[in-house]
Amino acid sequence: MNRIVILAAPSGAGKTTIMARLIEAMPDKLSFSISATTRPIRTGEVDGKDYFFVSLEDFQQKIAQDGFVEWEMVYEGTYYGTTKDEMKRIWSMGKSPLLDIDVFGAMKVKRIYGAQVLSIFIEPPSIAVLRERLIKRGTDAIASIDKRIAKAAQEIEQKIHFDHIVLNDDLNRATEEVKALVGHFLAT
Ligand code: 5GP
Repeated sequence: MNRIVILAAPSGAGKTTIMARLIEAMPDKLSFSISATTRPIRTGEVDGKDYFFVSLEDFQQKIAQDGFVEWEMVYEGTYYGTTKDEMKRIWSMGKSPLLDIDVFGAMKVKRIYGAQVLSIFIEPPSIAVLRERLIKRGTDAIASIDKRIAKAAQEIEQKIHFDHIVLNDDLNRATEEVKALVGHFLAT
C-alpha cells in the first residue's frame, strides 16, 4: 500500500527541524515531498530541493492539467501545491512521501487517501511563543510575520481534524513523539 505522512504546523512551530530529524532517522522509508510554489525564493533555499519555485502562469497551467493532488493559496496571492508527479516519484522508490503542507491541504489529502495517510499536527506552545520564534528567525518582514500569525490562529482551530496532535513545548521530546508515531504507522 502506498502511504503518505503529513506534518502540518503553523510557520515557526518547529516543523522544519522535526522533519529533518525524521528523514535522517528513516532515510530508506521517507522522502521529503517537494511542493511547487509561486512565493519568492528565500536566501539559503534551493530550487528543486526546498520547493519548485514557479511562476504564477506555470502554476495555473499545472492546475488546468490536473497535475496537483492538492493546492492552496496559503497566503494572499501565494500558491503552494503537491504535485502528482512528486508523489509518484517517491512511491516508485519504495518510500513514502513526507508532506509539509498547510492544514487545509492536509485535510484534502486525508479526504482523498483515507487510511493511507498519517496526519500529524505540530502545535506551538502559544501564539506569543510563535511570534517570538518568527521574529528571531529573521527571514520574514514584520508584515509577513503578522500574516503568518493570523494564519496560525486559523490553523490551530483545525487541529481536531488530524490523526495526532503533538505539542512542541520541547523540541527533542516532540521529535521523539513524531518519530514513534511515524515508525509505528510505516511498520503496520
Ligand atoms: P513557507 O512559505 O514558510 O515555506 O510555507 C508556508 C506554508 O505553506 C507552510 O504552512 C507550509 O506547510 C505550506 N505549504 C508548503 N507546501 C505546500 C503545499 O504543497 N500545499 C499546501 N497546501 N501547503 C503547503
